[in-house]
Amino acid sequence: PAELEDLVALFDVEQSDAPTPDAEREAALAEPRFGTVFTDHMARITWRRDTGWLDRRIEKYGPLQLDPATAVLHYAQEIFEGMKAYKHADGSVWTFRPDANAARFARSAHRLALPALSVDDFIGSIAALVRTDRAWVPSGEDSSLYLRPFMFASEAFLGVRPAAEVEYLCIASPVGPYFAGGVRPVSIWVAEDYHRSGPGGTGDAKCGGNYAASLLPQTQAQENGCDQVCFLDATTNSYLEELGGMNVFVVMADGSVHTPELTGSILEGVTRSSILQLASDRGRDVVERRIPLAELVAGLADGSVREVFACGTAAVITPVGRLAGGTFDHTVGDGEPGDLTMQIRTELTDIQYGRAADRHGWMRRL
Ligand code: PMP
Repeated sequence: PAELEDLVALFDVEQSDAPTPDAEREAALAEPRFGTVFTDHMARITWRRDTGWLDRRIEKYGPLQLDPATAVLHYAQEIFEGMKAYKHADGSVWTFRPDANAARFARSAHRLALPALSVDDFIGSIAALVRTDRAWVPSGEDSSLYLRPFMFASEAFLGVRPAAEVEYLCIASPVGPYFAGGVRPVSIWVAEDYHRSGPGGTGDAKCGGNYAASLLPQTQAQENGCDQVCFLDATTNSYLEELGGMNVFVVMADGSVHTPELTGSILEGVTRSSILQLASDRGRDVVERRIPLAELVAGLADGSVREVFACGTAAVITPVGRLAGGTFDHTVGDGEPGDLTMQIRTELTDIQYGRAADRHGWMRRL
């Protein structure tokens, strides 16, 4: 749409003087290694308290030079987003619900006392970057260009207060299928000694500190033979919250679909809200509520819980085949991916890759 043209036109594009040679890029795209290889450019906007957002630009991807006193290195005033650009069969490139990511980025900015970036600048920066680096969008099955918008306190000052200088950037990394050999259920360890956030904390913001807090419990999950950690609420230590980087769903034997309600300490996933919509479109009862761990464990034992899955941009939907903790260890169903889990997964990826009608108007062409 013409409107997107206007947003993109605000960005000055300075082409890299050393773009990746075609053969090297094609090799990187043939076997994408997520998060290690980045495109030739990055989007950038600079904020100062006295000027607001300035210098919308696309520049060569490269290292940032930071003063050792840069505030983010000390006080973690930082937020980010994660989304993907998908190539459709006709070669067009699309994002999924970028307005939802833009809105969440603004909420995260508010919580971290960072300046709000407008939805227009957020979407304009992504479109400008993807258009500049269009050749980097993979076309392989279940492949995409992962987009990482982020914002941090760049002011060199050790005082503890909101920074007066902030940088916003967006970088991009080609990513292949999350499940290379077919969808495989993961095992989950429920952390009972650590929480990722608490009431009034930053759990519903996408800030780096939340992920720092999740690393030790995630390591303990792995030490206990599990793939991922699941957190409980910090007040009662008894209700399910979410995984380190995914929301969680439970499918009951009566067909209803349940997910922890948004309490302020859970990140509101874009995938989560899309699944709530798709499940209700299928006529399923969809319930957002507090889910006691004890109820889930009992339901796995007596068969009233049929399927458990996790969801997020990276893996879309990940079946959970096993749930374990200090005092329990249960297989979910027969340990294989559940039917509804896989049906919704297929439906969502079909929309994202343009194989199914976008009946909710979720896709935005870049
Ligand atoms: N919870 C957490 C803690 C996450 O980091 C993510 C990934 N952004 C999600 C849930 C899923 O969110 P989304 O579906 O928007 O990727």
